[in-house]
Amino acid sequence: MIILKFGGTSVGSAAAIRRVCEIIKSRLPKQPLVVTSAIGGITNKLVSLAKIAGAGEEEKSKRLTLEILTKHRAIIRELGIDADTQLIAAFETGVQMLNMAVDNIYNNGRLTDELYDAVISVGEFFTAHMLPAALRRMGLSSEMTDSRKLLLTDSSFSAAQPLFEASKKRTQDILAPIVSAGIVPVIQGFIGSDQDGRTTTLGRGGSDYSATLFGAMLGAPIVEIWSDVDGVLTADPSLVKEAHRIRHMTFKEAAELAYFGAKVLHPATLAPAIEHNMTVIVLNSMNPEFPGTAISKTSPVDPSLAGRVKSIAYKEGLTVITVMSSRMLMAHGFMARLFAIFEKYKTAVDLISTSEVTVSLTIDNATNLEQIISEVAEIASVKVEKAKAIVCLVGEGLKRTKGIPGQIFGLLQDTHIYSISQGASEINLSFVIDEADLPKVIIRLHDYFFGSDLDSRIFAV
Ligand code: ADP
Ligand code: ASP
Ligand code: MG
Repeated sequence: MIILKFGGTSVGSAAAIRRVCEIIKSRLPKQPLVVTSAIGGITNKLVSLAKIAGAGEEEKSKRLTLEILTKHRAIIRELGIDADTQLIAAFETGVQMLNMAVDNIYNNGRLTDELYDAVISVGEFFTAHMLPAALRRMGLSSEMTDSRKLLLTDSSFSAAQPLFEASKKRTQDILAPIVSAGIVPVIQGFIGSDQDGRTTTLGRGGSDYSATLFGAMLGAPIVEIWSDVDGVLTADPSLVKEAHRIRHMTFKEAAELAYFGAKVLHPATLAPAIEHNMTVIVLNSMNPEFPGTAISKTSPVDPSLAGRVKSIAYKEGLTVITVMSSRMLMAHGFMARLFAIFEKYKTAVDLISTSEVTVSLTIDNATNLEQIISEVAEIASVKVEKAKAIVCLVGEGLKRTKGIPGQIFGLLQDTHIYSISQGASEINLSFVIDEADLPKVIIRLHDYFFGSDLDSRIFAV
């Protein structure tokens, strides 16, 4: 079996969906399970819709609903699948689901986390029905299977945690007969349901995570992540046009990169692959013959050749919290008390650096910042700085290469670096800067590390 995951741009137009169908067709002998995202941009529109409905703006929300539905209808018509009776019925169900979720927001008087997920899940519901209809039109046998029947999660809406063992049993029971009957199952990425049957989502970009989760549940050796880039690149191509494709990455490298913001993979994607030793391949659906980037446990290239740095990622919109306490910082129990506050507000800490009297932390999710600060202020003095970014250099080669921090400081003499940390994994080096300095810093580092003399066994130059 093979898992094929298609992202938003890969299903963003009729032409893109036709290309996807050809890719699926080419993988038929491997018994594919197809995991799809919503049409690119639709989840953002659904997020707006949920918020507008939450604000009680009925007219605006009607207009946006119409816009969302019109976009789907136009693609369906262009694909020539508008007479597919299964799709017609499913589309009607999707419209009802959406209208009901929006009505529930009005009736409730405000947006709840549960209703938010009910609204934003509808994008994947539509595409997961459109793809099988497009495959049927090509003469293939394909059915949508609702991932809410397969993927059981906890009830943390919009950041749901999968319940692996329970999901595995359902998934195998439901999907095995479909696959052995020669039918291509298509499921929604990003979507699951909790024990009460309520729709949950895995966090933005979560379809990648669905793909490796389903791969692990079904024992698939390969998960293909089809996106709009030629693979994992040496930097975000929207900042660095000259970014190069990386031929191969280890699990550790890719996991660090995903965690530190490379949007091409959701941060949790690699965890199931690591545990079940699957190979993840990042491919371009616009360029399907291209080899992409293979991610697996070990590198096929001799590690001594692995280069100093393989890729540069960044995460913006961060807040730095600096905690100062001359009396208590080194006292036993202080750190535990400090981190208990972040734990209480379910706020993950990305980067930590400590000195004799201060500890500096970065957080991504500032939803509960005020409460966190007021509780920290009870045990120490605290300073908050917003609009910061982490830059992260990743590569197994960092383990062996001396002097990289020195090189970075040398290159960035005109830039304020707030803190620096060599990751515990030894394969990442991260530092905090002002968000406004990001483009300059990333481009300068990319020029330095990837501007010339690239090893063509590691990078596609
Ligand atoms: P999909 O809809 O297929 O899931 P995403 O938009 O989530 O696609 O992820 C692909 C995007 O990730 C690319 O278009 C690119 O802008 C961005 N990206 C950021 N960092 C990298 C990187 N290092 N390599 C490749 N793409 C990256
Ligand atoms: N459609 C969802 C999002 O935009 C999930 C995904 O694309 O992976 O976040
Ligand atoms: Mg994505």
